[in-house]
Amino acid sequence: MVLCACGLQCVVRTSWTNRNPGRRFYSCPLIGWVDPLMCDRSLDIIPGLLRNRDALEDALALEQERADWEEHRANEEDTRANQAELRANMEV
Ligand SMILES: [Zn+2]
Repeated sequence: MVLCACGLQCVVRTSWTNRNPGRRFYSCPLIGWVDPLMCDRSLDIIPGLLRNRDALEDALALEQERADWEEHRANEEDTRANQAELRANMEV
């Protein structure tokens, strides 16, 4: 447990800036990094990985929306077909 200079317990937070991707730090006046400095390779690679992940999540959400819509439409068509069949049977 880390206490702030003001006496409160510090909270560990995570930075997602390009300069400190995934690097944790203490909040409140007693600000200090939990993790050591990021190496240059991490600084080059991690931001791109995060952007790619975000793009994939966006694409996945769109695809899920499309799939949900198609399932909804298919259910509506089934319902219409069933209703038409019922009407046809009642007329016989
Ligand atoms: Zn404080």
